Amino acid sequence: MSTPLENYLTGKAPDKINAAMTAYVANLQQVAQVGPEIAASVVKELATQRAHLKLVASENYCSLNTQAAMGNLLTDKYAEGFPEHRYYGGCENVDAVESVAAEEAKALFGAEHAYVQPHAGADANIVAYWAILNQKIEMPALEEFQETNLSNLTDEQWADLRKKLCNQKLMGLDYYSGGHLTHGYRQNISARMFDSYSYTVDKKSGLLDYDAIEKQAMEVKPLILLAGYSAYPRAINFKRFRQIADKCGAVLMVDMAHFAGLVAGKVFTGEENPVEWADIVTTTPHKTLRGPRGALILCKAEYADAVNKGCPLVLGGPLPHMMAAKAIAFKEARTTAYQTYAKNVQSNAKALAEDCINLGMKLQTGGTDNHLMLIDVTSFGLTGRQAENALFECGVTLNRNTLPFDPQGPWWTSGIRVGTPAVTTLGMEKPEMAEIATIINMVLKGTKPGLTKEGKPAKGKIDLDPAIKKAATEKVQSLLSRFVLYPELDLDFLQKEFVK
Ligand code: PLP
Repeated sequence: MSTPLENYLTGKAPDKINAAMTAYVANLQQVAQVGPEIAASVVKELATQRAHLKLVASENYCSLNTQAAMGNLLTDKYAEGFPEHRYYGGCENVDAVESVAAEEAKALFGAEHAYVQPHAGADANIVAYWAILNQKIEMPALEEFQETNLSNLTDEQWADLRKKLCNQKLMGLDYYSGGHLTHGYRQNISARMFDSYSYTVDKKSGLLDYDAIEKQAMEVKPLILLAGYSAYPRAINFKRFRQIADKCGAVLMVDMAHFAGLVAGKVFTGEENPVEWADIVTTTPHKTLRGPRGALILCKAEYADAVNKGCPLVLGGPLPHMMAAKAIAFKEARTTAYQTYAKNVQSNAKALAEDCINLGMKLQTGGTDNHLMLIDVTSFGLTGRQAENALFECGVTLNRNTLPFDPQGPWWTSGIRVGTPAVTTLGMEKPEMAEIATIINMVLKGTKPGLTKEGKPAKGKIDLDPAIKKAATEKVQSLLSRFVLYPELDLDFLQKEFVK
């Protein structure tokens, strides 16, 4: 019996064979020899992704080049430490990979130092917190112990240190106003490491109120002032944050996980570019930046040694195959094509926001400057959860999101978060944004809250008009048929070979 690869290579005219598809088939063939159900899931995921309009603001589609860089023997190597300072032998090739990724990241963002090991954005933030503590806190305990870093403390010394660390203050944006869990949310380790304080947005405008933040920072005097968020639709003035940090004596840390692609693509420059102003910047490559999952840290040279101690202080061994994939993504982001992409992400978001407003929707802060917007769905009589479910039933994927001061809380919410990174990767432009706004509007208008057994409106249930569902689904599919994800990949062939 012939293999999937043989079937592909013999079933196509030579000029119709493409390298990406060949690599994909070969890769899945290897996987299927051991785990056919795993190969089937990969193919089914491609089908799912192709069939849904992805408006999740934190997701994207990384290139097939980047994906290829992840699937290789680099995964086998342990390399705790950092280049040329490893706790394992034989790390020359990992050193080379990590150094290329770090140099590419430095060049991409104009940073003094880059650390590309963190496995996730949440981990990168913890590494950054420890680096700041390590660098900034004069702990008599440490001097007493004559330690230069925190790696080798005894249990007793740790207990002493913990007591001291609890007195350090972190000040970030409130989770419910768009901050991330790791920015001091009470159920996250960040709120246990620090005495944590939150600022919020202006109740009326929904915007950051820099004067109010300054006033609060002067009262709190945090060790770390943290900016950069998960659900804030506006540009951030980092020059102003720098002034506030300097005035209150804080280290300025920025988590640009969401909008890193707009920084890399030179959409956010000057006062809006955090790398110019912050001491430490953390980010993920898998959102607007369009790379693989993971994270990286950029910092001023002063913090380089402390940041490099991320592994083994906080992180497990680095993932060399993922650092290889990061290197490829950073190289891709240094092209003019990527800069055009980043500009389009922003212009698409602005166009979509305007279209939604023209259709009568209410947007948090009245619009967007970046890649995302928050739509208040209460005017449709829905919770965010109902809106998310109704749209998903029509083939649109996005997530519900709290609005600042949301009376519905984080489970039900009053809003949905809508982002343009993924649809822009597919090549969609302003006309398609108008189509998307129409789809969102028709689905939300065609949805009523479902009823409980007792006949009362239920926050989680929906009653979606079947005619609207049919019409919206057709519109979504028509849109997706014109903008195919990974067009090099022949889904019918992959399904035939791998999904039994
Ligand atoms: N920082 C911000 C601002 C985020 O929005 C997120 C995730 O959505 C993270 C950090 C965490 O990233 P990860 O999921 O890779 O841990």
